[in-house]
Amino acid sequence: MKFLLLLSVIVSVQAHGFVLLNPAFELKDGTSAKIKVSKEGCTANGIPDSKIVSAINRAVDFWNDVPESSLKLSYGGKSKAFLTDSSIPKNEIIIGCGSLPSVQILGATQNDYTNGSARVKMNAAVYTGSYNEDSFIGTVIHEVGHGLGLFHSNDPASVMTYADNGWGDRPKYISQDDIDGVVYLYPNKSQLGGFLGSCTSYSAESKPSFNFFSDFFFGFLFVIGISLLIQKIIGKVRI
Ligand SMILES: [Zn+2]
Repeated sequence: MKFLLLLSVIVSVQAHGFVLLNPAFELKDGTSAKIKVSKEGCTANGIPDSKIVSAINRAVDFWNDVPESSLKLSYGGKSKAFLTDSSIPKNEIIIGCGSLPSVQILGATQNDYTNGSARVKMNAAVYTGSYNEDSFIGTVIHEVGHGLGLFHSNDPASVMTYADNGWGDRPKYISQDDIDGVVYLYPNKSQLGGFLGSCTSYSAESKPSFNFFSDFFFGFLFVIGISLLIQKIIGKVRI
């Protein structure tokens, strides 16, 4: 069973395009991770925290839209940490503004491997004045993807791609490729709970029609088991 699960994951990695950060990264605890405004925020370049908060809420809605995953991000208020701090508090993705080498770079993410956290630096030279708010939101969603442990995808439908996905600046929905990446990084533990877990999810669906190989084989094993048990009991009686 485990082999089959592993195999299906490998197949899905090959079939789609999501790429993991190298070395692999994941948040300390995907079930309770917080996205916060960094201590400096973007106020130095005229963007109030409320604008960052609305982008964070969009990112939370976007990345949480994977019920098959255990990932549950939430907005966590203002962080105690600056983007420039040497480490980021555990299980936080903090977002603020700072200088980046070129205006071609809209944002950049650095993962804190020790704390399972990340910092997202939005380019203060781009997002200032009458900046494009859709671009700001789209970039936050993309950078949070890096904060989760995803690298750039080659699937044009993914928010993690560099290719033109026809959305303009603001992603409209999460693609299957992004979903696959999130499920891979943050699997839903209850669905990986072995036989009991798979039995629960199985019974939720209508039972498919008789499958000769599986049903017959299990029935066959059941009959053998019962006959062995009877033989054992009879054997005990005889002794
Ligand atoms: Zn990127």
